[in-house]
Amino acid sequence: MAAAESDRDPPSALCSEFLNFSARDTATRWLEAADLKHEVYRHLAVYVPRILCLGPTPGGGGAGSSREEQREELACQLLLLAPLEWFLLGEEPSTGLALLQEKNQPSPLCGHVFKVGEPTYSCRECAADPTCVLCMQCFLGSVHREHRYRMTTSGGGGFCDCGDAEAWNKGPYCHNHTPTANTRDSEADPTALLPADMVARGYSIFSIILKYAVDLLTWDQEDQVPAGLEPPERGDTYYCMLFNDEVHTYEQVIYTLQKAVSCSQKEAVSFATTVDRDGRKSVRFGDFQFCEQAKSVIVRNTSRQSKPLRVEVMHSSVVAHQCFALKALSWLGQVIQYSDGLRRTLCQVGLQTGPEGENSSLVDQLMLNDSKMWKGARNIYHQLLMNSLLMDLKYKKIFAIQFAKNYRRLQTDFLEDDHERVVSVTSLSVQLFTVPTMARMLMVEENLMKTIIRTFVDHLRHRDLHGRFQFDRYTAQQAFKFGRVQSLIGDLKYVLISRPSQWNDQLRVKFLEGLDAFLELLKCMQGMDPVVRQVGQHIEMEPEWEAAFTLQMKLTHIITMIQDWCCTDERVLIEAYRKCLSVLSSCHLPEGEQPISLSVAGHTVETFRYQVSQDKVSIHLPLYRLLAGLHVLLSRTEVASRFPEQLPLGELSPPLLIELPLRCLVLCAQVHAGMWRRNGFSLINQIYYYHNVKCRVEMFDKDIIMLQVGASMMDPNHFLMIVLSRFELVHIFSSDCRKRYREANKDVVQQNNTLIEEMLHLIIMVVGERYVSGVGQVEPLEEVRREIIHQLSIRAMAHSELVKALPENGNKETGLERVIDSVASFKKPGVTGRGLYELRPEWTKHFNLYFHHYSRADQSKAEEAQRKTRRQNGEDTALPPPRPPPLCPLFASLVNLLQCDVLLAVEGAVLHWAVEPSGGGWTESMLQRVLHLVGVALLEEQQQLENSSGDDDVTFNYTSKITRPGEAPSTSGSVLALLESLQNAPHLEVHKDMISWILKMVSNIKTMRERSCSTSTVAVSQGQGPEEMVRDKDKAERKRKADMARLRREKIMAQMSEMQKHFINENKELFQQSLEELEASTSAPPERSPPGLEPMCVSQVCVGPRRVGGAEPRQLVTCILCQEEQEVRGHGRAMVLAAFVQRSTVLSKNRRRSLPDPERHDPVFMHPDLSMGVHTASCGHIMHATCWQRYFEAVQLKEQRRQQRLRGHTSYDVENGEFLCPLCECLSNTVIPLLPQTRPPDPSVSHPSLEAWLKLTNQQTAVLRYTHRSQSGGVAEEAEPVVPEGFRVDFAPQNPFSSSVSEMVTAFSVSAYKVGLKVNPNEQDPRVPVVVWSTCAYTIQSIGTHTHTYTHTHLRGRADAVCLSERLLMDEQKPLFGSLPCRQDDCLSSLTRFSSACWTSAPVTTTHTHFVRLFTALHPDASAADAPCVLDMDMFHLLVYTVLSYSSVHTLDQSRWSSVDSAHLHLLHLVTVAHLVQILLTSTTEEVCMDQDGAGSQEEELTCQLYDRLRKHLSSVLPEVTSGWQLYRRVKVGILPFLRSAALFFHYLNSTAPPADLLVAGPGQWEALCSYLSLPSNLLQLHQSQHTQLEPLIQRWCCHPGVRRSLQGGGAVVQFPRESNRLIDLPEDYSVLINQASSFTCPRSGGDKARAPTLCLVCGSLLCSQSYCCQTEVEGEDVGACTAHTFTCGAGLGLFLRVRESQVLFVAGKTKGCFYPPPYLDDYGETDQGLKRGNPLHLCAERYRKIERLWHQHGIAEVIGHAQEANQTLVAIDWQHL
Ligand SMILES: [Zn+2]
Ligand SMILES: [Zn+2]
Ligand SMILES: [Zn+2]
Ligand SMILES: [Zn+2]
Ligand SMILES: [Zn+2]
Ligand SMILES: [Zn+2]
Ligand SMILES: [Zn+2]
Repeated sequence: MAAAESDRDPPSALCSEFLNFSARDTATRWLEAADLKHEVYRHLAVYVPRILCLGPTPGGGGAGSSREEQREELACQLLLLAPLEWFLLGEEPSTGLALLQEKNQPSPLCGHVFKVGEPTYSCRECAADPTCVLCMQCFLGSVHREHRYRMTTSGGGGFCDCGDAEAWNKGPYCHNHTPTANTRDSEADPTALLPADMVARGYSIFSIILKYAVDLLTWDQEDQVPAGLEPPERGDTYYCMLFNDEVHTYEQVIYTLQKAVSCSQKEAVSFATTVDRDGRKSVRFGDFQFCEQAKSVIVRNTSRQSKPLRVEVMHSSVVAHQCFALKALSWLGQVIQYSDGLRRTLCQVGLQTGPEGENSSLVDQLMLNDSKMWKGARNIYHQLLMNSLLMDLKYKKIFAIQFAKNYRRLQTDFLEDDHERVVSVTSLSVQLFTVPTMARMLMVEENLMKTIIRTFVDHLRHRDLHGRFQFDRYTAQQAFKFGRVQSLIGDLKYVLISRPSQWNDQLRVKFLEGLDAFLELLKCMQGMDPVVRQVGQHIEMEPEWEAAFTLQMKLTHIITMIQDWCCTDERVLIEAYRKCLSVLSSCHLPEGEQPISLSVAGHTVETFRYQVSQDKVSIHLPLYRLLAGLHVLLSRTEVASRFPEQLPLGELSPPLLIELPLRCLVLCAQVHAGMWRRNGFSLINQIYYYHNVKCRVEMFDKDIIMLQVGASMMDPNHFLMIVLSRFELVHIFSSDCRKRYREANKDVVQQNNTLIEEMLHLIIMVVGERYVSGVGQVEPLEEVRREIIHQLSIRAMAHSELVKALPENGNKETGLERVIDSVASFKKPGVTGRGLYELRPEWTKHFNLYFHHYSRADQSKAEEAQRKTRRQNGEDTALPPPRPPPLCPLFASLVNLLQCDVLLAVEGAVLHWAVEPSGGGWTESMLQRVLHLVGVALLEEQQQLENSSGDDDVTFNYTSKITRPGEAPSTSGSVLALLESLQNAPHLEVHKDMISWILKMVSNIKTMRERSCSTSTVAVSQGQGPEEMVRDKDKAERKRKADMARLRREKIMAQMSEMQKHFINENKELFQQSLEELEASTSAPPERSPPGLEPMCVSQVCVGPRRVGGAEPRQLVTCILCQEEQEVRGHGRAMVLAAFVQRSTVLSKNRRRSLPDPERHDPVFMHPDLSMGVHTASCGHIMHATCWQRYFEAVQLKEQRRQQRLRGHTSYDVENGEFLCPLCECLSNTVIPLLPQTRPPDPSVSHPSLEAWLKLTNQQTAVLRYTHRSQSGGVAEEAEPVVPEGFRVDFAPQNPFSSSVSEMVTAFSVSAYKVGLKVNPNEQDPRVPVVVWSTCAYTIQSIGTHTHTYTHTHLRGRADAVCLSERLLMDEQKPLFGSLPCRQDDCLSSLTRFSSACWTSAPVTTTHTHFVRLFTALHPDASAADAPCVLDMDMFHLLVYTVLSYSSVHTLDQSRWSSVDSAHLHLLHLVTVAHLVQILLTSTTEEVCMDQDGAGSQEEELTCQLYDRLRKHLSSVLPEVTSGWQLYRRVKVGILPFLRSAALFFHYLNSTAPPADLLVAGPGQWEALCSYLSLPSNLLQLHQSQHTQLEPLIQRWCCHPGVRRSLQGGGAVVQFPRESNRLIDLPEDYSVLINQASSFTCPRSGGDKARAPTLCLVCGSLLCSQSYCCQTEVEGEDVGACTAHTFTCGAGLGLFLRVRESQVLFVAGKTKGCFYPPPYLDDYGETDQGLKRGNPLHLCAERYRKIERLWHQHGIAEVIGHAQEANQTLVAIDWQHL
């Protein structure tokens, strides 16, 4: 970096200026000046370079720069802006501005400009279009709050539309912006409210400043400033300015910068970030040479692959003035906020045409130079435009006209530029074009529609010979341009989005001109990307297809909108139809096709030879489809019948109209038939999108309509023959070709079968699809309803699935909400899954198996589902067609297709083939379709009969036609006769129901006809009679059959479930794996108590000489790998339990404590804040140690091979010892060896008193200490202590375990040590056993804590404490025992037994040393100066450590005088008393007051006594407490978690069954707990009875200097009980979170908005995730903010909420993570990951609690493991960068 930085001293240079400068005087001078501009420029010329040209980093970056910036800011304000304000206001600026604001009569527009990430709201009921949005403030104060609204996050730019009456159909004003008496009439001139001289001054100063800013922002000389601004003294100071582009990556820029200006990686990142954000950044400051040198390096380094990065060496004065120009623009934006009058003045200045005439206003200059400016400059002036021109209705119009005039040029500039659209001035179109009146005006006056379309077409220059678009030869550059040019379609959409309610001639003319341009565009698309069937070889290269479909997709809404416009005006519609037709005829079929004539069933038609399978065919036919759409409108608006003379209907040639759409449909059929396999995926994709919901409205749907149009105007026989011919099936159905299948090969037969099926389906659609308003007589609502019915006929669906299946209109609406509740019922979701809609049963009768939007897969699923429900309801399984709605008159003749001779011949043929069991000659689907067609025809006839008054006007007579025998050459009987003969054919069992239905219909219709002949009017009602009777009888029979079937089914089900139960019993372990189950079992007591939990009626004691248990003689387990049974013995083959050890902060009460230094950390004493512990979990699966080792080696080997092959990660880290349990795939990283139970106590050994035991232990520890010191060459002159009798320091106990068990003992110890301390394995480290004990203690403690889930978060004062204590004592919680799932129980018992034996694998003396230290802390003496104070130890950990370490000391005592159990009991008593003291010391720091209630009990008295003792030792530090009752309550509540944990510990240590009272919730828990622990239920008696022994101890505890220090406020004191930690509280409404996150700025890059704000659910920190700026180095690697945070907050494990994505993120370590569904649901019971749908989201407390439970149970790592196993793509994500 430049050396200049240090030797400058800018503040002092400016200081004197500050003092001498007077803004007022300057302003006065200006007022008097003759040439104001000259004066102002002179001022700027002097001061701007001095203030803003200070060195290498103007504006941002680096550490000390923020102070620098502040100084700069201050100087700007005082020296530059203040004079302007004085000049403008004529008085002290702050008063003047306040006065202006007070007098201002604001327009009701809100105009709040959105920041990136800020929530925006749109009302789906009232917004004119989806771009109309409200800011959060306005939304909360609006009526739309109660409506159906959509919430999204802003991408930045754009403003709140509150107050714009045109944007909202209802409720345009929020609470704050409702017009009042003070609101100005929008027509009135706001400048009239200001004093005339101020307006004049404003005008002149705004002109100068705006001109200054425009000149500088558009300035293109690096070395010169504009005239009048030359600095008084010009130095050789330059900046090397780096500009942003979208070509080079972050990494490239950072790398280059490090080389070019030799800065650190960090500085380079900071430069790159600023360049990306602001568009430019100076990277070097110095003399010209110095900067030029850096420039050449950058250019050289980046020019290799692409065009080089843009770098310029600029003179410092130019940069300084440009800086100030931006500040001046911001200033203008601020000043006009105070007064609408000033705003109007500024608008005037901005749009005033200059002397150069056209396009010479300052705003024009800015716009036209937009693409030349850097990002930061654009942002600031765009913001000013929004604050000024767009907020002033009069000037908004003028500006819009200017914008439209320059539209083509601006767009061209944008296309040449490479910046994103949000920073282009063209993005303002959304603000201008979406205002309907404005759009209309621009269309009329500036011919906007035509301009946009023409500009668009002109930019797509690549055409083929026929003038069609050609995308396949696009270069990358052109593809990029194609991407950008699409934004024009967006503009067109804005213009067309609201239909005009009133037309005038001008609008008609301009719209039709626009339509002409649009038709030209469609003409260029017509026939794009033609395909030819590939025969022989597979295509070599997949042809390009996406561009064409992208275009089609983008235009879909436009095409629909244009039709909507046409629909509102008859004249426009007629004219549009004519135009469309004439363009269509100008691009007709290629000539020269050979005419042929076809004849089928006695009819003949003239057509020409064309085969889809051999000739060119294209999917893109937009002109035909538009015409089809317009034709439907002619019918819907009845224009066709009212003005037939104006329509060119006579010119239509139906065969030509249907030709191309038909080819397209045949292409689809042939692709289905497998004829186009060699054409590759490109074609398959095209066919997919052709039917896809995004395109089908203007593709597939319109092709069907076009066939309907054609068929309705043609002889039905001719139509069908052409169809047959295009399907290449004529020869099969024509008279002379009956021997079709004899000679053909199998593939051809199959192909033809599929083609016949497809053709029949097409005919079904052409006659049956009538739900388009205009084709059939339906309301638009019915169309949506039918879609929904058919979706839900497949299965119940979630709201979002339905939305996806329905086409959206231009307003992003599907119409779903209007009908859904009438056809479906909603089923709420549980804790997982989502809410589902189910079809109401009464709507199933509308189900149509051949619904045109079903894919083949949908169809078969729906068929299956429908048949199933029908069977369940005991109905027949026929799925006849539903009754179709009547056709509109224009399409009425379509029905004749059903009864025409050709179709009858086809039907007859298929039925005839079906007589013989299929030999490949026909298919069931074919038959099914024919039956469906027959059904449709019968329904049609029935309906016509019902609606007619007599037989005469029913022209449709299908029944009579099918009764006639087939004409020659089909010598078979009539269709009806064929059906009758098929009815009982055994090979047609499946279709039997359908055939019976048809036959019944036929007889029914016959009856109707007969009746209508005799008694014409009553025919309808009576006509139902006989059929009904037949039905009833039939129904009864069916029901009987169904019942029998049900009985049979039930029997089978019963057998099945019996087998299943058996299986479950056998595999019980297996079924307890999933976490769901784990939860279930913790919330309800399991049916089976784990072994050792059988309740005992006798009094159970788990600790001390009277303890029971350990009596179970043999413990047999089965290895999951080899299935052999094995007894657990110390000397046998080792058995192990798969386990997972992890660090945990779940219980932490202090997240600010920094992580311990792994090498020096001393874990012997656990602080009561439990800031970090080691947790062990297990899935409970047992293996032989040898079996496991073999398994693990195999895993390692496999992983090595896999890594060589794929070089990817797996979900587990083998190098760190991780593996998946071979049975349940649970993530594990070690194994716990199973050890035998402890033996029952020896009754012959005496139980010494506390006094005797203390004396002995003191002697023992003294000896040990002395020995250790002398061994290490320590203090030799110390007197040798008395050695108690039989105590042999040098005794070496025999290892009680076989080598195989010992090996496993070491293995687990070392892995716990490795994970717990994060160090390299070292079995000699004395800390090894301590870590094992600590994981035992911590794991038990986490269960002891979390089985109590307090419902209250805080203990506030007494009332809550009492409430809490009552609840605990009244035992509302779960019982201590009996609620643990099996696997946890197994894990804890093995872990505890293991911990008690792990010292055997460690060097003996280390355990002794630990015991000595621990004991000294509990029993301090003079020699123990370094022991921690009583407030700094977690007592449960102390208890576990002392108990577990004592065993090793006890073995030295060969006298066998006392038992280990006595020692355990004494230790428990001592620690309990210490904990009592600890609780008393800490519980009264909060002031409590409550009247005493009467005489205290014994407990209370004793509590007071003890408390008084403590006060005596600590006098002033402890407050006086009057209520013994309250103190005792506190003690009792505070100590309960400890007692519970202790009970668990001794239960597992000694295998003592718990007493019955502790197995179930209920009264008497406290007493049971105390007696189980061999404690008096009045705990204070412990102190009372051993008064003499304990008193000196208590005194020593209290006198530890640490106690006084802590209580006097030296750090946070942990209070008891420690509440269980909870995840942070989340707001109910998700948008609150979004709002919070939107104002969150990255803590590193000076006020920049964080792109991925992420919330830590554990501590509530907001982080700037997934971004370079906030990467931190952790353990030698750069990691993102989330990962870094987990290391301080969660010991490597984290739970986050990604706010913009609405997604929960779990992270473990640096390489593992997964996403998890957020606890926020919309009203349809669905999450919205990615916030794509925008439905309002609300907190689901149960789901949040589920996440919390997962965390409490240490299950996050396992969830990640399972997620990564299930979804391999998760493995590839770089989690550490989040
Ligand atoms: Zn607003
Ligand atoms: Zn508002
Ligand atoms: Zn609304
Ligand atoms: Zn085994
Ligand atoms: Zn397992
Ligand atoms: Zn956190
Ligand atoms: Zn950041």
